Amino acid sequence: MVNLVNYASIKAELSLHDAQLVAVSKTKPIEDIVSLKALGQSSFGENYVQELLTKQESQPNLKWHFIGHLQSNKVKSIAPFIHLIHGIDSLSLLKEVNKQGEKLNRKISCLLQIFIAKEETKFGLSPEEANDLLQKDFQKQFPFVSMKGFMGMATNTNDSQLVRKEFKSLRLLFEKYQSADVNILSMGMTSDYKIALEEGSTLVRIGSAIFGERISD
Ligand SMILES: *Cc1c(COP(=O)(O)O)cnc(C)c1O
Repeated sequence: MVNLVNYASIKAELSLHDAQLVAVSKTKPIEDIVSLKALGQSSFGENYVQELLTKQESQPNLKWHFIGHLQSNKVKSIAPFIHLIHGIDSLSLLKEVNKQGEKLNRKISCLLQIFIAKEETKFGLSPEEANDLLQKDFQKQFPFVSMKGFMGMATNTNDSQLVRKEFKSLRLLFEKYQSADVNILSMGMTSDYKIALEEGSTLVRIGSAIFGERISD
């Protein structure tokens, strides 16, 4: 069930910050996606490839975002339609996206995922690795990748000062590369999107506040 009250208030907040919403529909039924689509929501985020493929087949006209950890051998299946891959977290994944883009003659839009949290479990490049990649003529090396910006996840904690500091560090990296083409800073989810917006997020990824708690993910 979609929480319409939360959806409306999130949309209002985002418009104050000129930020966009990816509605994170992972584990949720297609009916929920269809009801949000009826309200004008067009961007949806998934983090399991098989689930994404099933949903995309049913709703091919939506903008599908891949927000999770993507295995290289799965790139091929989403490459024809994916709107934005948020989680580029290794050079080998980047190479594979470029390769699949070349096969399709399609430039695939991507964000570099940066590790900003204190936790061991979160994927991502270090800011140094991202700088290395971006300073070595990125477009020439990866002509079928359209690098749109950065994505990061803050530590899952009640310590809002820490979360703020982590988001701020990502925003500083983003500002170094920000341009007409590099204009997406994907940060903030249900628990921390307000801080993310204050710290300059342009795209939040919100699931449970809109679709309700997930039983599992
Ligand atoms: C699940 C997920 C979200 C959304 O989480 P909520 O807490 O439900 O808003 C955002 N980003 C990523 C990468 C996720 O995997």
